[in-house]
Formats: sequence, structure tokens, C-alpha cells
Amino acid sequence: MAQRSCDRHKNLQMIPSSLESSGGAVSGHVCPVPGCGRHHAEDGYFDLADGKPVREEKRLKEKITLAADEILRMLRAKAGT
Ligand SMILES: [Zn+2]
Repeated sequence: MAQRSCDRHKNLQMIPSSLESSGGAVSGHVCPVPGCGRHHAEDGYFDLADGKPVREEKRLKEKITLAADEILRMLRAKAGT
């Protein structure tokens, strides 16, 4: 397997690892630095949160937060406060 270094720690080799993705387990690399946890797979570098790539998760959370704010605003307007 090809050697891969972390994009935040260019002098460090990442550890070959099996990564979970939406399409199942894929072979990739994980940065050994505590607090970094950078992952690399076929489609590039990413971080994981709760076992999912952060970039997708983040967008979804922002959408949910926006929707929740909107509902709160409507409820407050109805309550007349
Ligand atoms: Zn790193």
C-alpha cells in the first residue's frame, strides 16, 4: 500500500486503516497524532465525528439549526411575546 502523510503533519506517516464510508469499508489512512485524527481515503482528506465524515455532517447540522430557529421564531410570534 502507498505511504501517505497527514496534510497537517507532512513529516508523519499516516497509519493504514480500514475506514467506514457510506459505501461500506474502504482502505485508507489515519493520522497517529492525538487530537488530529485526520483521515485520508480515495476521495481526499477528511475528519470524522461520530464515525461520519465531518464535511457532510456539518452542513446537515447547520440546516437543522436554521430550521429550528425558524420554528422558534414562528412560535414566539404566535404567542405574542
Ligand atoms: Zn495529523
